[in-house]
Amino acid sequence: MNTSRPPVDGLCQECGFNYDTGDLQGTVTTLIRQSAESSMALTKAAAGPDVNVVRLRPEPEVWSAIEYACHVRDVLEVQRARIAQCLAEDRPVYAPMDRSGRLKELKYEQQDPMVVAAALMKNARDFGAAARVLKPAELGKLGLYNYPVRAPRTLGWLIRHTAHEIQHHRMDIITILAKLEPPIIPAPKAAPPEDADPETDEATPTADEPTGT
Ligand SMILES: [Zn+2]
Repeated sequence: MNTSRPPVDGLCQECGFNYDTGDLQGTVTTLIRQSAESSMALTKAAAGPDVNVVRLRPEPEVWSAIEYACHVRDVLEVQRARIAQCLAEDRPVYAPMDRSGRLKELKYEQQDPMVVAAALMKNARDFGAAARVLKPAELGKLGLYNYPVRAPRTLGWLIRHTAHEIQHHRMDIITILAKLEPPIIPAPKAAPPEDADPETDEATPTADEPTGT
């Protein structure tokens, strides 16, 4: 379900992110690569026959690709500012990001996909640069985080959580675009059964409908 809240520790069953594995440098490298993949999926779709495909919500309560891309862009900026705040303050308390307030105030659905894609990549590189240089003692520093519950979290966790946001919403963006615009980003097809008779293949109706979310 897209409306469920992904976990903030252990393994995420939806996107496969694991908070318990991977070192700092590898986590940051993956974050930058996956940001690039989200950015490319958005620009490819926007460069297709209908630019507005990026603005379509697959279901009324599920965000569009441009909305997720704007969210990811802003998450990267907010999290980089939180790293700086954590290093600068004795007892940092992070201000809530207000994801749905931003969606409305900044009119995510009307933003230019090419501009969003470029900003997403810039923010990923800037976040990566700020995260890569942290020393072990800094990674253990605590700040009061407000999602999903108010709790002290280390900077190391904050970086992993940011990487999870990127991986999870990369999946959302690619899944949504595959549903709405099959010729640009094809959804994975099920392999034909092994005993299929090749001569009757073309006459066999194929199931094109998504198997559910
Ligand atoms: Zn996830």
